[in-house]
Amino acid sequence: MNFVGQKKNIQINNLVTGGAGFLGSNLIDFLIKNEENVLCIDDLSSGTLDNLKHLKNNKKFEFKKHDIREPFLFEGRIDKIWHFACPPVPNIYKIEPLSTLDINYTGTLNLLNLAKKCNSKILLTSTSEIYGNTRINPQYENMPVDLLTYNPRACYSEGKRIAETLFFAFERLYGLKIRVARIFNTYGPKLKMNDGRVISNFINFSLSNKNLIVNGDGSQTRSFCFIDDMVIGLVKLMGSDYNLPLNLGNPEEISIIELAKLIKRKTNSSSEIEFRPTIKEEPFLRRPSIELAERVLTWQPKVSLETGLNKTIDYFKKQ
Ligand code: UDP
Repeated sequence: MNFVGQKKNIQINNLVTGGAGFLGSNLIDFLIKNEENVLCIDDLSSGTLDNLKHLKNNKKFEFKKHDIREPFLFEGRIDKIWHFACPPVPNIYKIEPLSTLDINYTGTLNLLNLAKKCNSKILLTSTSEIYGNTRINPQYENMPVDLLTYNPRACYSEGKRIAETLFFAFERLYGLKIRVARIFNTYGPKLKMNDGRVISNFINFSLSNKNLIVNGDGSQTRSFCFIDDMVIGLVKLMGSDYNLPLNLGNPEEISIIELAKLIKRKTNSSSEIEFRPTIKEEPFLRRPSIELAERVLTWQPKVSLETGLNKTIDYFKKQ
């Protein structure tokens, strides 16, 4: 299908920004399986076409390389815009603060204007990072937050906050139909092996029997949601009429040291665990309150960490 180009007044079901990345490409697979058509835009700065190569000849799919900081020219109607494009990983966004901020401001503004023009519902993937380095556990949607603009992670948390704020401004000014998901740590197949995130690092290094690096004493916690659960949560949120920020994540919390031991055991690895200094700027605790998602979407993650890790390890082995 030719969604973009000469033709005018085309109607498409889905536009996915950042669709070559981990979350986006998994969502696209789900949408295509459900017989919807998808236009994916991505600048390929962190995503990869490998995640989409199986769709190359699929008539319901089209890819356009595009940086969302430039307006995306499209004539027609788009039912749903899934706005995922953003550098996803602390190691990347910390060294690219200006583009991270710009993508979240200029990029989001461009997408919102497109949604207004094309009469689309638009969903933002925001982040648990918005809750900052809190001692309140679990984190709930309207809790007080304490963010420091001089934290090296601020480009991401503040970037997502301005993106959310833009969404609400467009809703108030133009009645745009918006959805805002605050996503907690997510993992699964298509995760980049070398992206520096903890699950990728631990599986990657365990499989090659290299040392697993634990920052600090490993007592900091995270809660990991398997990608299939996350995709269903996002689809349910888009289909709902809930228009305030909503947490999506798995409340099963684990310390980083326990995670290292678990992955080492699952991969039968002879890797050693090596401790490095604490990274002071990062959150110590992270666990979502998903009461709202349970009530509004009747959504709950179904895949346990054990099962999700088995599937992810299998995927990494094949890479
Ligand atoms: N981490 C670690 N070793 C690694 C990668 C990460 O100890 O090889 C820690 C990191 O310091 C943090 C947690 O694991 O406490 C999760 O880090 P990640 O970068 O995956 O994402 P975050 O949740 O911090 O955004």
